Amino acid sequence: MVSRKHFIPILFILIAMAILSACQGEEESTELNLLCTPQVEWCEGMKAEFEQAFPEITVNFVRMSSGESLTRLRNEADNPQFDMWWGGPIDSFIAAKEEGLLEAYDSPNLDNIKDPNLMLDPDHTWAGVYVGSLGFATNQNFLDENPGLEPPTSWDDLLKPEFAGQLMVAHPSSSGTSYTALCTVLQIRGEDAGWEYLRTYAGQVNQFTKSGAAPARFVGQGEAAVGIVFSHDIVAQIEAGAPLVLSFPAEGTGYEIGGMGIVKGAAHLDAAQKWFDWALEPATQELGPKYEAFQAPTVTGANPSMPELLEVNLIDYDFQYCGENKTDFIDRFTNEIANAENLKE
Ligand code: PLP
Repeated sequence: MVSRKHFIPILFILIAMAILSACQGEEESTELNLLCTPQVEWCEGMKAEFEQAFPEITVNFVRMSSGESLTRLRNEADNPQFDMWWGGPIDSFIAAKEEGLLEAYDSPNLDNIKDPNLMLDPDHTWAGVYVGSLGFATNQNFLDENPGLEPPTSWDDLLKPEFAGQLMVAHPSSSGTSYTALCTVLQIRGEDAGWEYLRTYAGQVNQFTKSGAAPARFVGQGEAAVGIVFSHDIVAQIEAGAPLVLSFPAEGTGYEIGGMGIVKGAAHLDAAQKWFDWALEPATQELGPKYEAFQAPTVTGANPSMPELLEVNLIDYDFQYCGENKTDFIDRFTNEIANAENLKE
């Protein structure tokens, strides 16, 4: 029989043991497996910055374009290898949510988002982390060699005979950038005229690439005359010394909201939530230019490095329409217009 004198200390010891064992059961993660869709320099920079902010966590990242990322998450749904997916247009995040591949998270930093109607999934499975507009990159040497030829300032200009075999763009099956261009055209022209346009436009293409930003680099090297790329990627190449001219279609251009989301079934959920919170801090969103990323931020308190990239004629891009139809539109493009074999890296 335990006396009353001994009962209270024993109770304290039992409570302390219960708390201790509960804490041991919730050990904090020391790793984060990140699927990273923006350009590799930015992925590397974000890894280093996150590890500095959270020294107990090592980030293992793989860089993959949007379409490849979605396929990978789909294939791994029963045994997810990634915890967090960061970057790439939200069309793919909307498609991933539809397939049940993302985990909702009520981050305390959701309040930082400037325009939640546009930049936040109502069910909180994804949030916007940057914004960028589509532009055209034209090789200056090509213009010099073709007197009188101007950089394209409309979608129709891309179909000029002077640009036959001279366009470079990624394939929409692998690239979110290219899918943004495809869905922009369908919205500007309507589906019937849009698909007709896309067929002619594909006939002008020199080569499709796998990654969305790659055409800016190849056009800078003179492998083609014009690239259809996000304007911030064109600026990054110009900053690096490439002879490129940036222009926009006057009748309107599409834009992306780059997203992020936690992978359903993430093994390192606590670390993924830390990344999610951290990515919505103004100071984190101002890190881009340090790593040649000139996208605009999505949170209040962070200043855009190049606001002029969004001060162009942007269409009222319907992310829901583009996200929900992504698989169908890509299948149609691949089956009827251009297959995805032999893509340039
Ligand atoms: N790289 C940068 C800098 C981007 O802004 C984006 C778009 O979000 C991507 C890559 C997307 O990559 P991809 O078009 O290869 O899917």
